[in-house]
Amino acid sequence: MLKFISFGSGSSGNCYYLGTATDALMIDIGIGLRTLKKHCRDYGISLSDVKHVLITHDHADHIKSVGSFSHDYTLPVYATPKVHAGIDHNYCITRKVADDMKMMLTVGEEVQIGEFLVRPFMVPHDASENVGYEIHVEGVNFVIITDVGCITDDIKEAISHADYLVIEANHDVEMLANGPYPAYLKQRIQSESGHLSNDSCGRALAENMTERLKHVWLCHLSEENNHPELARKTVESILRSYGIIPGKDMELEVLRRTMPTGMYELSI
Ligand SMILES: [Zn+2]
Ligand SMILES: [Zn+2]
Repeated sequence: MLKFISFGSGSSGNCYYLGTATDALMIDIGIGLRTLKKHCRDYGISLSDVKHVLITHDHADHIKSVGSFSHDYTLPVYATPKVHAGIDHNYCITRKVADDMKMMLTVGEEVQIGEFLVRPFMVPHDASENVGYEIHVEGVNFVIITDVGCITDDIKEAISHADYLVIEANHDVEMLANGPYPAYLKQRIQSESGHLSNDSCGRALAENMTERLKHVWLCHLSEENNHPELARKTVESILRSYGIIPGKDMELEVLRRTMPTGMYELSI
């Protein structure tokens, strides 16, 4: 059975686990290694069972511990060449990924990584580069799209392929407009290379999801410009206006910023 856990989601650190009985990968290592080890102990997961790491982009909240994790467990790290270069140049990351552990991904090209068939696709965001992942394993299509400036055709296509989907609902447009952030930061977040609002997330879902979609997790919520309940309600009301009923047609949940989720079992 395929298992999924979110260990953290948002600007204080992102880290996701996806594992079968015999293979496992992590997506982004943006939380401290000690915290990650503790969470894994709590779930009865041995970190030495993790065999691969995928990175979306080179912002610190996604890569903080990737170098140490890769070093301590001798793990290959998959990312695009631009993201690898970005990690090398990121002054927040004290331990870099060793050259022989860097695995290069090409946007749009499928690659078999252990039991996982992985296709990275471009996601607009102001990092060196940012990708989402479509991951096919045990008959399930798992899709993750985080730190999203705007919805592109590639992203629409990925949503339409998803059985299980993690997608950003970063901010409420009004909370951001009236909130404490300086103007330049508000501008950055709203820009086409910034972050996705609850409204845009809801519309992207409603317009592109198919009947195969079973479960959506809203990720990377802003602490200052969003609330879990507000994000859920906004997305839910957009889905309802399209005749899609969360809880009946599919499950809709919000990922907490620093609290790990339960362990989900994903099947077809
Ligand atoms: Zn982020
Ligand atoms: Zn980012």
